[in-house]
Amino acid sequence: MSSIEQVMQKISELENNAVELMKSIVPIKALGPLNNGEGETAKAEYIIKYLKSIGLSDIREYPAGDKTVPGGKRPNMTAILDGENKNRTVWILAHLDVVPEGDRSKWDTDPFEAVVKDGKIYGRGTEDNNQGLVSGIIAAQAFLDLGIKPKYNLGLMLVSDEETGSIFGLQHMVKNHKELFKKDDLIVVPDAGEPDSSMIEVAEKSILWLKFKTVGKQVHASTPEKGINAFKAASHLVVELNKLHTMFDTKDEVFDPPISTFEATKKEANVPNVNTIPGEDVFYLDCRILPNYTIQQVMDEAGKMCRDIEKKFDVKIEISIAQKDEAAPPTPVDAPVVKALEKAIKHVYKVDAKPMGIGGGTVAAIFRRAGYHAAVWSTLDDLAHQPNEYCVISNMMNDAKVFAHVCLNG
Ligand SMILES: [Zn+2]
Repeated sequence: MSSIEQVMQKISELENNAVELMKSIVPIKALGPLNNGEGETAKAEYIIKYLKSIGLSDIREYPAGDKTVPGGKRPNMTAILDGENKNRTVWILAHLDVVPEGDRSKWDTDPFEAVVKDGKIYGRGTEDNNQGLVSGIIAAQAFLDLGIKPKYNLGLMLVSDEETGSIFGLQHMVKNHKELFKKDDLIVVPDAGEPDSSMIEVAEKSILWLKFKTVGKQVHASTPEKGINAFKAASHLVVELNKLHTMFDTKDEVFDPPISTFEATKKEANVPNVNTIPGEDVFYLDCRILPNYTIQQVMDEAGKMCRDIEKKFDVKIEISIAQKDEAAPPTPVDAPVVKALEKAIKHVYKVDAKPMGIGGGTVAAIFRRAGYHAAVWSTLDDLAHQPNEYCVISNMMNDAKVFAHVCLNG
């Protein structure tokens, strides 16, 4: 039997270990202080004990100081299983923290007890992100049990604080422990995905919400010549802003839809009666911008349009930012981590996975901003943060096989 097949079979045999590990960690409430919890230390300590028990010896801790939790520290750690080629590490990044259970009455089981039923494990954190965490550990355990060295190092990186900003987690690691990551490393973040394993998330759009406040002059509607209709001027601006679609018209088929979008959305109420010409108007524009453009470029063009409308209608227009999140540089669709995942997913799931872009907001952006090509992938029903969150046991085991495959083939 090839070493790949041996490892795949071994992972299947470790299913009970995976389920037991999940059962042990779900009750250890790892809530960050911003979620009124005491942090992730107890969970991290349990996992370190487990990692030692399976024979992983290279475990290092990188705590981030946080006075708002007992002990004053948020745990972060790496556990490394040496490969034949020690110059490249396949990182599996998972987060230790979970979110609160939310409305308890919507749960059919105790959210902080792992309940196994019909091939699933129910409980808060089972899918987000214990599944990825356990899959990574089980992949390492299979190599250790068999005494097989992967081609590349298997690096587990377990961090705090993903659910409340990552300041004490991945941001801390990337900022203060840059030496851990090498240029050729493969970084996998198993924290989002599709039920059919087909999505490898590599990019995100920038998000920009703009508020436009137009000021004219309020008068009686029977004498419009005495006032300035702010609503009418703003309506012309709405039409003008639609030209952003042609100004920023790059297509990128990695995204769905493959274009930047600029949509007028919310409209604040103006005058309460029909026979008054509104002297003030407020509306909003929701922009989702492909990463090849900057937010500033869009702001500049929108600003010019406002100046034109101001001249034409004798109004004053104020633009302000209601929300802004600049996209990280995308991971190339042919980056080694993407190629390795595609191969592994094909082998394990018999699925042709595709690199894709999403609307925004994964922890992988922190890696990408620091210059690393991270890919987000796992097999999920997407129940994160919901009541009756569960993880599908077969997904947990098969995702472990994908990680092992990447370490053996890279
Ligand atoms: Zn998560």
